[in-house]
Amino acid sequence: MKVIVLGAGIIGVTSAYQLAKAGHDVTVIDRQPGPALETSFANAGEVSFGYCSPWAAPGIPMKAMKWLLMEHAPLILRPKIDAAMLSWMIKMLSNCTANRYAINKSRMLRLADYSRLSLAALRDETRISYDERMQGTLQLFRTQQQLDASAKDVKALAADGVPYEVLDRDGCVRVEPALAHVRDRIVGGLMTPKDETGDCFKFTNALAAIAEALGVRFAYGHHIKGLDADGAQIRTVVTDKGNFTADAVVVALGSYSPLILKPLGISLPVYPVKGYSLTIPITDASRAPESTVMDETYKIAITRLGERIRVGGMAEISGYTNDLGHARRRTLEHSVSDLFPGGDISKATFWSGLRPMTPDGTPVIGPTRVKGLFLNTGHGTLGWTMSSGSARVIADLVSGRSPDIDATDLAISRYG
Ligand SMILES: Cc1cc2nc3c(=O)[nH]c(=O)nc-3n(C[C@H](O)[C@H](O)[C@H](O)COP(=O)(O)OP(=O)(O)OC[C@H]3O[C@@H](n4cnc5c(N)ncnc54)[C@H](O)[C@@H]3O)c2cc1C
Repeated sequence: MKVIVLGAGIIGVTSAYQLAKAGHDVTVIDRQPGPALETSFANAGEVSFGYCSPWAAPGIPMKAMKWLLMEHAPLILRPKIDAAMLSWMIKMLSNCTANRYAINKSRMLRLADYSRLSLAALRDETRISYDERMQGTLQLFRTQQQLDASAKDVKALAADGVPYEVLDRDGCVRVEPALAHVRDRIVGGLMTPKDETGDCFKFTNALAAIAEALGVRFAYGHHIKGLDADGAQIRTVVTDKGNFTADAVVVALGSYSPLILKPLGISLPVYPVKGYSLTIPITDASRAPESTVMDETYKIAITRLGERIRVGGMAEISGYTNDLGHARRRTLEHSVSDLFPGGDISKATFWSGLRPMTPDGTPVIGPTRVKGLFLNTGHGTLGWTMSSGSARVIADLVSGRSPDIDATDLAISRYG
């Protein structure tokens, strides 16, 4: 079958690879000159199979009010007259109940666990390298109150069968030796040892090259203008450099997916939630992290990627803008300098990306009511983590096979 994948981020490229392996004739279209040049470029590098929950959770509306007032705020809200923003926020708030949280989390965990197995299989078959490490994630608590509050996370991890370890100060230093320098600033942590780390940009580029060798064509520098569905069947992808015809189209345009679907009457509740990262060259490895440390106070992830430290986080709801806010840079610098001052901040690169967020935290994977039109998008905070499993699910669905995991409640039809 002739399949076109829209988007060459981590989701589009992993999808193209699995579709090519399934025997399809695959073309990927993207406006950028290469793979992973938008949100998949410089994310925090956590492959967080265990620590995988929706942002919409009970108690979040109250916590959000507090975060908005903090000096180094993890949440920034810039309200606009934008119906999509308002509608997304209302839907997100309606998911902050215990019942919705449990449903959404179980969907995310199912996909994350499948992604863990799928990524391991992909590594075995391709021998791909991407500054990967398999040393877990340490959620770090600076106050006793944070440590006490983690009891409910521990209960949830135990209920979901996710391996974890509650650590005291010494335990944190054992897994992250550089914390010995700042012992007095921490009280303990929660370790999820099955989590991994790696550079999403390197991975996507390496996999795109492998996919190309399998016969996938990449049409870079093509701005997608729209989709033509002849009757109820997808026919054509319209770009600024000409049209492409296909038997099936997979939309993996990240935050931009809803814009391309709207003219077809498909309303996809994905909205951009901006985040920021700093990438810092390591000058003193004894003061750098070994894996990922989540600084619970600022909700910032600090990750070791080869000879670099990547610091990423914050959630800014401000529409489709990649402007770099310098107050955000100060927050990232503050967190990393406080815990892991082993890098040269004067040589850091500052970046922002738009997380394609659904209001329920779960991505949208599956068919639409237009025959041949599929979605693999809306991966929000965990697109790197969930990419490998999502790609296998979409390749199975496009091929008319049953996926290895139940995917019916991942499709857009769950929104009614
Ligand atoms: C600060 C930050 C930290 C993060 N940390 C983590 C983490 O630690 N772990 C994790 O799992 N996830 C993390 N994420 C989330 C993760 O990066 C995203 O979920 C993931 O990159 C989304 O991938 P994507 O392929 O859907 O989107 P993208 O990478 O944005 O790809 C979409 C592609 O579509 C193309 N496109 C869009 N519109 C058009 C058009 N009209 N015509 C042509 N091309 C178009 C774009 O050029 C782009 O290449 C983080 C995100 C941010 C912002």
